[in-house]
Amino acid sequence: MEYSELLDSQKRFFNSGGTRDLKSRKAALKKLMNILKSNEARLSEAVMADFGKSAFDAYATELGLIYSEIKFQMRHLRGFARPHRAKTNLANMPGRFFTVAEPFGCILIIGAWNYPYQLTLVPLVDAIAAGCTCMLKPSEMAPAASKLLAELLNSNFSSEYIFVAEGGADVASSLFSLRFDKIFFTGSPRVGKIVYEAAAKNMTPVTLELGGKSPVFVTADANLEDAAKRIVWGKFLNAGQTCVAPDYVYVEESILPQFISLLKAQISFNKYEDGSENYARIIDRRHFDRILALIDPSKVVYGGSTNADTLYIEPTVMSGVDWDDKVMKEEIFGPVLPLLTFRNLDEAISEAAKRDKPLAAYIFTSSKRKQEAMIRRLSFGGGCVNEVVMHLANENVPFGGVGASGIGSYHGRAGFDCFSHVKSILLKRSLFEPGFKYPPYTKRHFCIIRRLL
Ligand code: NAD
Repeated sequence: MEYSELLDSQKRFFNSGGTRDLKSRKAALKKLMNILKSNEARLSEAVMADFGKSAFDAYATELGLIYSEIKFQMRHLRGFARPHRAKTNLANMPGRFFTVAEPFGCILIIGAWNYPYQLTLVPLVDAIAAGCTCMLKPSEMAPAASKLLAELLNSNFSSEYIFVAEGGADVASSLFSLRFDKIFFTGSPRVGKIVYEAAAKNMTPVTLELGGKSPVFVTADANLEDAAKRIVWGKFLNAGQTCVAPDYVYVEESILPQFISLLKAQISFNKYEDGSENYARIIDRRHFDRILALIDPSKVVYGGSTNADTLYIEPTVMSGVDWDDKVMKEEIFGPVLPLLTFRNLDEAISEAAKRDKPLAAYIFTSSKRKQEAMIRRLSFGGGCVNEVVMHLANENVPFGGVGASGIGSYHGRAGFDCFSHVKSILLKRSLFEPGFKYPPYTKRHFCIIRRLL
């Protein structure tokens, strides 16, 4: 079937009220949970085949997060979907206000390859909870995961409700041109712009989950062992191919040698060898070459070895880096960690703030003033103090970027809202009419309206 026909059938299903009933939304969420649980082994094998991602990582960074989101939405969706009373202001008395969340309708979800399940299925869970139909296009760059998602969802859900379309930019482009009620896109800022432009032609609302260069600041008063342990984990998770991974570290100059030793010890301890289950591969040759071109061998203080046959790049730390280096000109999205130094934290924050707003930012410090300086002076999607990456693993807070790193957010309540339009309704039962509202207007009318508004 053509995608336009599929969308028409989803529109008919949506307009017939097929997604409105809360019980059937919960049933769909439960069904999704069961499909995933009974196929966990196959789901792990697929990401292992795509880029060497281990079963531990597949569970910890993908399936586990999807299960939490399903449980959250099942627990809360009745409360989110019911009408909510709102206060009435003086100008509208007597009358009652309430708000109702209505599902946007037919949603298009386009995913990135680096977390191929989580990035398509968490928005799907939120869209189902909100009462929408969905078409999903996972990334063609993780082909085994994309194929399995298509098989599992297309054989278990009717295509008028949920459908997985497989393919690359050509399929994505033909989907963008259709009149969806919302497009949810995860990927690079470059393609995000293409999506935004295509959506504008149909006035289709978008949520854009993009990337950027997420900084980490490490001050001399931090617990440096903890900082090194957590930064190494967050940076080399998925071989650095994580949207909220620390992109670069700004280290206070006085502790640089000590911090480098701690980073080296931690990387060795974690055993990120070629072929190890602790470490993923680079997704393809193009990215492998792109990442290598960012490494300046004269600045490497750890790592740097590679294997083109297995698409392995050893965790690599570069020191003495500044903003003119190639590695600072784009999102790294790979296992290369540049270290910059500062003497004055405020100046380092100002330097970071001159660039595009990142998806995440982190600071390691024991000083409350320094934490606050980073949080207040730098604009970023979300982040952590004395930790990295973990802020995205809590469905009680929104997740999303700002500026160049994205538009809108999801996860938990924000996820339900992402796929809902909130209608404000005034219920006017009384026949009482305040006469000042109607012409012909007099000075007295003007006095009353001034007092009311
Ligand atoms: P990408 O932008 O290359 O691809 C994303 C999706 O867009 C894929 O499904 C792809 O098929 C499609 N696409 C690619 N080119 C297209 C085109 N010309 N026209 C239409 N569609 C096109 O991104 P990627 O390489 O899959 O992922 C890496 C990027 O995604 C990084 O920038 C990373 O930071 C970001 N990311 C963000 C998040 C987040 O939650 N904010 C999560 C993961 C990745």
